[in-house]
Amino acid sequence: MIQEKKPSLASIQSCEFSFLDTVGYKTFEIRNSENSGEKTVQILPDIATCSDCIQDIFDKTNRRYLYPFTNCTNCGPRFTIIESLPYDRINTTMKNFIMCQDCRQEYENPLNRRFHAQPNACTDCGPYLELWDKDENILSTRHDALLATVTAIKNGKIVAIKGIGGFHLVVDARNEEAVVRLRLQKNREEKPFALMFPSVESIKNECDISDLEKHYLCSPHSPILLLHRKTSGGSSFIGNSVAPNNPYLGVMLPYTPLHHILMKELGIPVVATSGNLSDETICIDNHEALNRLAKIADLFLVHNRPIVRHADDSIARVVMDRKMILRRARGYAPLPITLENLSTPVLAFGGHLKNSVAICSNNNVFISQHIGDLETGETTKTFHQVIEDFQQMYEIKPQILACDLHPEYLSTKHAQKQEIQQSIPLVRVQHHFAHVVSCMAENDLDGSVLGVSWDGTGYGSDNTIWGGEFLISTTKSFIRAAHIRTFCLPGGEKAIKEPRRTALGLLYEIFGDEVFDMDHLIPIQMFSAAELTIMRKMFVKAINVPRTSSVGRLFDAIASIVGLRQNIKFEGQAAMELEFAIRKDQSTNKKYEFRIQRSGSSSKNMDNYSSPLIIDWEPMIKDILDDLKQKAPIEHISTKFHNTLINFIITIVNKFKEKQIVLSGGCFQNKYLLENTILQLRAMNMSPYWHQRIPPNDGGIALGQAVVAANHFKSIRNKLF
Ligand code: ZN
Ligand code: ZN
Ligand code: FE
Repeated sequence: MIQEKKPSLASIQSCEFSFLDTVGYKTFEIRNSENSGEKTVQILPDIATCSDCIQDIFDKTNRRYLYPFTNCTNCGPRFTIIESLPYDRINTTMKNFIMCQDCRQEYENPLNRRFHAQPNACTDCGPYLELWDKDENILSTRHDALLATVTAIKNGKIVAIKGIGGFHLVVDARNEEAVVRLRLQKNREEKPFALMFPSVESIKNECDISDLEKHYLCSPHSPILLLHRKTSGGSSFIGNSVAPNNPYLGVMLPYTPLHHILMKELGIPVVATSGNLSDETICIDNHEALNRLAKIADLFLVHNRPIVRHADDSIARVVMDRKMILRRARGYAPLPITLENLSTPVLAFGGHLKNSVAICSNNNVFISQHIGDLETGETTKTFHQVIEDFQQMYEIKPQILACDLHPEYLSTKHAQKQEIQQSIPLVRVQHHFAHVVSCMAENDLDGSVLGVSWDGTGYGSDNTIWGGEFLISTTKSFIRAAHIRTFCLPGGEKAIKEPRRTALGLLYEIFGDEVFDMDHLIPIQMFSAAELTIMRKMFVKAINVPRTSSVGRLFDAIASIVGLRQNIKFEGQAAMELEFAIRKDQSTNKKYEFRIQRSGSSSKNMDNYSSPLIIDWEPMIKDILDDLKQKAPIEHISTKFHNTLINFIITIVNKFKEKQIVLSGGCFQNKYLLENTILQLRAMNMSPYWHQRIPPNDGGIALGQAVVAANHFKSIRNKLF
C-alpha cells in the first residue's frame, strides 16, 4: 500500500480509492502525464488526526501534551478553514494566530513533520477552548473546560461541542434519560443518532466489526460507519433510544485531538449528533450555536478557531466488501470525480432532499459537502452560500447550468432564476437518469447501460412521479425501457409520511371501490370511518391522487400491509424496517409471482423500445395477502418481497441486450437488495455496478446532472461548428 511504503519525505494528504473494472495491461510502466491542460486547484478535505500527532498529545514530555488543536502536514483541518486560495496560513482562519518561535521553527524546517503545516499551533500560540453556559458566561477555559465538559456529560448534561466542521450535540449514550431529552429538545423523534466511541476495542462490546470495517473507521476520512449490533455475547450499554428498533449503530472514532482527549477522559461511548434542530444545517459559529441551540444544549464547549464552511460527519457502510458512502461530507468533500473530456464549466444544483451541488471544469467534478433537505430557511441559506462558495473557490464561471426536472424543487427554481439573471443555458435532467449517470461517472463507464434507478420519488419525463425505473442510458440520453406498474398516492406528499395511505392506493388499484369493505386488511383498519369516507371521495373524484411507479413507495405499502409501520418519523423508515425484518438466516429463496406487460397495445415484440415494459406487482400483493391470511411471519414475507424485487431486475435484464447493469437510487442503500442483486447478476455473467464514492441517494444526483449537461452542451456545440 502506498500509504505504508512512501518516500520518507513524501506526505500523502489524502487518498481515496474505488474499484474499477480491470483493463488487462500486461506490463508495468510509468508513463508521462497525459493531462497537459490547465492545472486545477485541489482543496483537500479535513483529515483525521494522524498517529504521530496522537502520540504527541498523549506524551507528557511533549510540548503539545493535551493540546486539542495539534496537527501536522499529514492531518488536521483543511476544507473547513480555507478562506481563499492559495492554501497559505494567511488565507485560512488561522491567520490571526501568530506562531510562537517553536512553532515557526517547525513550520520552516523542511525536515519537520510540520513543515508548512498551515494550521500549525501549540498551547502558547494557538486556539484554545472555553466552556460557556447559555448566557455566554465563561465557566472555564483550556484543559479545565474540557474536564468540566467530561463531568457535565457524565452527569447527564447535553453539551454542544464545536469540532472541525461544526457543532455536535453530545450526551452519555448509556444514559437513556439524557438521550430521550436530547431527542425531545432536538425535535428528532426516531431517526438514529450517531455515536462516538473511545476506541475500536470499546466498539467491539456493542457491535460486530470486520477487519475491513475497522480499516475504514480508522482511515483518515474517519466516517460514521454503520455497524451491526452484536448478534451474540456481551450486553449492550447503549440506550434503546439511540437507534430505536434498529439492528445497526452509526459509529465513529475520535478524529480531532479535541475528540481524542475528550473521549480518553470520558472512557464511554457518547451520542455525537449534528448540532442543529431536526433537519437544519449544522451550526458552525459560536454565537450562532448559542442562538440556535439554546433550547437544546445545557453547555457549550467552544473554541476560537473559526469554521469557514460546514462539513457534517460522513456516513458509510460496507457492502460487497467495499465502502459505500451514504452521506458525503467531512473527510471526502470536496475531492473531485475525475472524468475525461469534460471541459465545459457546469454548475449543477442537485435535488431537493439530501441536496448537494456540483461544479465542474477541466475534467474534474467537485461535489459539495452534504447540504441537506431544502425544506427549512437555514438549509436554503446554506444551499445559496455553498453555490457562491464553490464558484469563488475554484474560480469557475459556469457556462451551463443543470437542475432537476421537478418544477417545484427549490433547487430548480433557483436554477431558473440564475438562467434568467445570468443568461446561461439551463439543462433540466430527469431525476432517475441523473442517478444512473452519477453511478456511470464514478464507475468510469462508457457506452450504453441498463440503469436500474429505484428511489422514493422523482419527476418523470411524462410529468408523473417515477421511482421504479429501468433506463437504457448513455451519459447523453436514455430510453425508459421498463418501470413498475403505477398506483395512486392519496394525498400526494402526505402519503410519503403515511405508508397506510400508499398501501390504500396500491390496494385500490387492485380491488377498486371494494377495498373499502375489506376490513380484514391492516391498512383499512388504520383509518377511521370518517377518514375512509374522505379517501373514497378522493379516489372517485380523482382529487389529489397522483400516480407513481416508485419502488420506495412500494416498500412503504408493503410495510403497512404487513402491519409493520403506518406513519414514518424520518425518510426511508418503513423501507429500513422492512429490510431489518428479513429473516436472520436468509435461508429462504422463495419469491412471489408477478407479470410483465407492455404499456399500450401497439406492439407484442418485447425487443423493441417503442413503449416501456411494465412490471405488474398485482400477483405479488395477492400472494402477500394470502400469506398474511396463513399467518406467515413478517420476516418471511419481507424476505420473499425482497427476492421478488431482485427477480424484477433479473427478468428485465434478460429482456435487453445490455451487459452493464447500473444500480442507483436510494433503494440501493438496502444491503440485502443490493448484494443479492449483484450476486445474481454476476452469476448471469452480467457486469453490475453500484455506488462507492458518491451516495446512491439524492446526494449523488448533482454529479449526474453535471455530466449530462456537459455532454448535452458538447453535442450542441458539435452541431453548430
Ligand atoms: Zn498529524
Ligand atoms: Zn506555538
Ligand atoms: Fe432520487
